[in-house]
Amino acid sequence: RSSGQLAGLNSENGGVSDAKNLRVKLVLLGDSGVGKSCIVLRFVRGQFDPTSKVTVGASFLSQTIALQDSTTVKFEIWDTAGQERYAALAPLYYRGAAVAVVVYDITSPESFAKAQYWVKELQKHGSPDIVMALVGNKADLNEKREVPVQDGIDYAEKNGMFFIETSAKTADNINQLFEEIAKRLPRPASS
Ligand code: GDP
Repeated sequence: RSSGQLAGLNSENGGVSDAKNLRVKLVLLGDSGVGKSCIVLRFVRGQFDPTSKVTVGASFLSQTIALQDSTTVKFEIWDTAGQERYAALAPLYYRGAAVAVVVYDITSPESFAKAQYWVKELQKHGSPDIVMALVGNKADLNEKREVPVQDGIDYAEKNGMFFIETSAKTADNINQLFEEIAKRLPRPASS
């Protein structure tokens, strides 16, 4: 199939993807307070700054990573600020997304339940070949853990998702999260 049919590639804002350089829309979903903004800031700026909010309306941050096979992936990261207030608009966010990262907080069973809600929404409204990751964040707070690792693993496996636990605070597994997503992206046919 041609690259134009790939979910999220050649997006409406003039994105260009080819066999060597992918450009993908990535949406973050999850309860407020699970650490979505901090994950993005850690990945894009290498910082942990809980006071800084990256998300203003419909803006995104982008970050390019190089893979070992000398291809690059440019992530356009949409943090769904205010989605709790604008839940009805959520499908607009994940329309055209090649990647959805669903985040919960390992100290919060409520946030894990909410993550499962977002997965169901994505299964209903997202692109059929969307790459989905389930992320248990705040792994540094292991002593306050209330969601067993195995629950995350099992849920992700049942739903065909990639699973990882991260800490935006310590940077644990943040780069790995995006590298693993990049490896799972459908590739346009080489020309
Ligand atoms: P968002 O609403 O999902 O975007 O969450 P934020 O990124 O604003 O983070 C919410 C709170 O969780 C902030 O006070 C952060 O300091 C804290 N936080 C985020 N990530 C981590 C983490 O990995 N470990 C710990 N201990 N706190 C975190």
